[in-house]
Amino acid sequence: MNRPLSGAPTGGGIVIGRACVLDTGFIDVPRYYITEGELAGEHARLDEGRAAVERELQGVADQLPHDAPAEARALLDVQMMLLNDAALIEAARDRVVNERINVEWAISETAEALVDQFRAIDDPYLKERGRDVEQVAGRLLNALSGSGSPALAGRVTGEPLIFVAQDLQPADMLQIRGAIGFVFEQGGIHSHSAILARSLRVPAVIGVAEAVAAIHDGDMLILDGDAGEVFVNPAQVLLDDYRERRRLAAEEERLLARLADVDCVTQDGCAVTLLANIERPDEAQEALRMGAAGIGLFRSEFLFLNRSRLPDEEEQYQAYRQVLDTMQGRPVTIRTIDVGADKILPAQALVPGATSALGRRAIRYSLAEPEMFLVQLRALLRASVHGQLQILLPMLSQPKEVDEALLLLNQARQELIARGEPVAERIPVGGMIEVPAAALSAGIFARKLDFLAIGTNDLVQYTLAIDRTDHRIAHMYDELHPAVLRLIALTIRAARKADKPVCVCGEMAGEYRVAPLLLGMGLRSFSMLPSRLLRVKNEVLKVDTRQLTPLVRRMLVQDDLGSIRRGLACLGIGEAPGLPAGTPARDPSHPSTPTGAHQA
Ligand code: PEP
Ligand code: MG
Repeated sequence: MNRPLSGAPTGGGIVIGRACVLDTGFIDVPRYYITEGELAGEHARLDEGRAAVERELQGVADQLPHDAPAEARALLDVQMMLLNDAALIEAARDRVVNERINVEWAISETAEALVDQFRAIDDPYLKERGRDVEQVAGRLLNALSGSGSPALAGRVTGEPLIFVAQDLQPADMLQIRGAIGFVFEQGGIHSHSAILARSLRVPAVIGVAEAVAAIHDGDMLILDGDAGEVFVNPAQVLLDDYRERRRLAAEEERLLARLADVDCVTQDGCAVTLLANIERPDEAQEALRMGAAGIGLFRSEFLFLNRSRLPDEEEQYQAYRQVLDTMQGRPVTIRTIDVGADKILPAQALVPGATSALGRRAIRYSLAEPEMFLVQLRALLRASVHGQLQILLPMLSQPKEVDEALLLLNQARQELIARGEPVAERIPVGGMIEVPAAALSAGIFARKLDFLAIGTNDLVQYTLAIDRTDHRIAHMYDELHPAVLRLIALTIRAARKADKPVCVCGEMAGEYRVAPLLLGMGLRSFSMLPSRLLRVKNEVLKVDTRQLTPLVRRMLVQDDLGSIRRGLACLGIGEAPGLPAGTPARDPSHPSTPTGAHQA
């Protein structure tokens, strides 16, 4: 079969291997009525079942290697919490008493009602949380029937295999050693399976309809984690093609790796700073390995997500300190939490409007919850003595948000001084420009703040009115729209005029083909996924800003999209210059497709 099955890509490149299909499907729930005299026995079975699952989850947690991704523990925590949640356990107990039904029946009815409530929430992230309930209920039912996790029984041999299932519980995924890929029928990019696959660095394709029916044990698979495609028993010519792609990608990695220690300077001698975006403290290691000059964006909200209890001051301090320690004196920009919209705290889960991108998100949420914000600010200030900390405020739209945040920062400082804690004398505070209103008044923000960071992901969303999480209009999401480009150029000019540093830290900064355009606008600082750093550096080294700047200036005053596109083509955006022979051209929908490495 040479037409691929397709699903949501989680990245991680291409793997080729044999399939192992796991049966995670249907659980046969025994249903019967009980007498009053049997009530006590059913309660005892429920308690035993719960204790057995607790031991099972604890066993998985205990066996996690010390370098297991933070998400792994967090996901197990969430399941532990559900296991003790009255909405599941006590509600099931009530059903046993009130409806005189057996425990399995009660659990399955209670879980179904809870899952329906989650499914009714119009938010892809929260919908996925219903899966936790299903999974915990499934584990309970298996424990009550006396079987462990049937999905894995005898199937995990440590062989390098691509595991195919309807879905896998995080606890089961963590027990599989030797998985080189995952294909799941259920879930999307927010699903636990996707999050875990990414942090385990195992390529996965998620949400592949009918995968379990279409793939059989032992089938040969090509799994492309970047394109979200799975070829089942591919023809030899396709296998050869993908093996060649994998070889080229590895070769390119090897060539690019040489650039890690090369100074990032354009042909005409302009120094360009390349920084890394991270979501977890341990990712700072990779940033260092890729030669990042610092952390341009640590999305601190990821410390707060997927857990039942918010991190306290000490836990946050340790996380921020870990990044500062790892970066050994290089600048580390930590963004205060950007929750709301597609990143929801448990406390926001049932709040109307919490998932709106236009609602109380980011700095608006922090200012509305000053006690929570002060905990974060104190943790940041305490960490400030361990390196070169910069604090970044997300999604500013009103200058007074800066004033209020600075007041709270000062309050946090005074609280720490009163406690006798050391705090760095000077901590630069910057703001994210990601709302058109902020870009259009960037000068005001530049004067109030120490630096600006342009968040192009949201700037595109808000400028073009394209919900960045809605796949139905994803094709309209255009970073190169003239309106977006002008707002970026305007912000860079305003920062330069105020003599304040400015950086782009949205995905656009990591798209190597766009680098010449941003350099031509005067940008000298880029922050991106660590995996993009060397490719962008390779591009910067080839650029001569003396030629670029007038070209870009002329292009930006054009009025129609066609002229701007032609201008971009002149800059090489949209074609593939400098590729080593045989390297596939870039697919514009996949910015991570490889290009050539600077060979100097
Ligand atoms: C952005 O909006 O470009 C950005 C960097 O922030 P986030 O992607 O976390 O919203
Ligand atoms: Mg943003």
